[in-house]
Formats: sequence, structure tokens, C-alpha cells
Amino acid sequence: MQDRSASLLLLLWLAVIISAGLLLDRPPAPVPASAPLSQFSAERALTYLNEFAQRPHPVGTPEHDRVRDYLVEQIKSFGLTPEIQRTTGVTPIYQVSGMVENIIARLKGTGSRPDAVMLAGHYDSVPAGPGAGDDGAGVAALLETMRALRAGPPPKNDIIFLLTDGEEEGMRRSRECWRLPVIRNQRRQFASHPASFRSRAAHRRLVLYLRDLQTHAE
Ligand SMILES: [Zn+2]
Repeated sequence: MQDRSASLLLLLWLAVIISAGLLLDRPPAPVPASAPLSQFSAERALTYLNEFAQRPHPVGTPEHDRVRDYLVEQIKSFGLTPEIQRTTGVTPIYQVSGMVENIIARLKGTGSRPDAVMLAGHYDSVPAGPGAGDDGAGVAALLETMRALRAGPPPKNDIIFLLTDGEEEGMRRSRECWRLPVIRNQRRQFASHPASFRSRAAHRRLVLYLRDLQTHAE
């Protein structure tokens, strides 16, 4: 009887630990658009998404150009200076090539160290859908992150924002961004791989990480 009680207690204890783990791993609740400007607001991110993820915008289409121009204008409105990298991308493994239009912006840090953080997402969509999830949600989150960081105190290190193109055709074009001088010169000084904004469950951790980063900066 004592053995059975001990087993039940152990099971109960395990259930508590698992439930606590699941609860703690949940993404933060959406922050409303009325939140202070230096905070990331999911509601504000959604307004960007509604603007650009209306129709399919694969590379080489007029809708793609509209989305590109919209993103550039938004970045400018945050007070940053976006650059567009236009070049031909080739990936021999898929035997495809095409025009690259990666968008890049840099938020200068106050520190003197050359280390930088890069946040990246891709803004092209598949031909069959408006790309709201892949990777529109990521791009919208990236825009809102950019805006919030710009509105708050400047970060210690530079933050590079990269919106890549042509990912849906095998990433042939997004790879071209590594040729950009701003990234090529920086590449050795990244602390890790770029933080990629994708709509995957695992990237909840990135959201939590960015939230913590912001909390500590305040
Ligand atoms: Zn994708």
C-alpha cells in the first residue's frame, strides 16, 4: 500500500512539473497597439501584415514590387535607411537563377565593439497564397521589432535587419545577401547564426528572448 501511495505521489509530482514546464514555455500574451511605443506590440505587427500579405507576391510579380516598396517605406518611417541589394542569384543545385532584391537596414549601437546581431526573415511568398504565415508573420514581427527598438534607447551593439527575397524558390536569392559589403565585413563578428523570424513553434523562444532583452534594457 505504501508503495502504491509513493507511486501516486511521484506521478502527481511529474504531472505538476510537466504542466509548469508547458505553462512557462507559452508565448507572451499579445500586447495591444495602445502599449508604449518602445514595446513590441503584436497588434501593431498585425497591421503591417494586413497591409502587405494581401495577395500572392512571388518574385518577379507586380505584387512583389508593391510589397518591397511598402517594406522600404515602413523602414524609412522608423528613421532607418534601408538599402536594396539587386543582383543575380544562382543556385546550381536547383539549376535556377533570378534577380535578388534583399532589403537591409542597420540600427547603430552605442558601443565601440564590432559585434552585431542580425534578425532575418523572407518577404517573398509562394505563388499559391499571400504568405501570411510563411514568412509574412515573421516579417511583420521584424518590422515591429525594428520600430520598437528605434523608439527605445539605442542598443549597445549594432542590429542588422535583413529581409531576404526568393526563399520560396530554394533560397537561391536570399543567399546572395552574404555578398553585401555590410554583411560580408560583419560576418565574422556575429555571435551566432542570424535569428530567423519564421512561423514555427520553436521560434516562440526567440519571441521570449527578445521580450527578455527588452525588459532588461528598460
Ligand atoms: Zn518560406
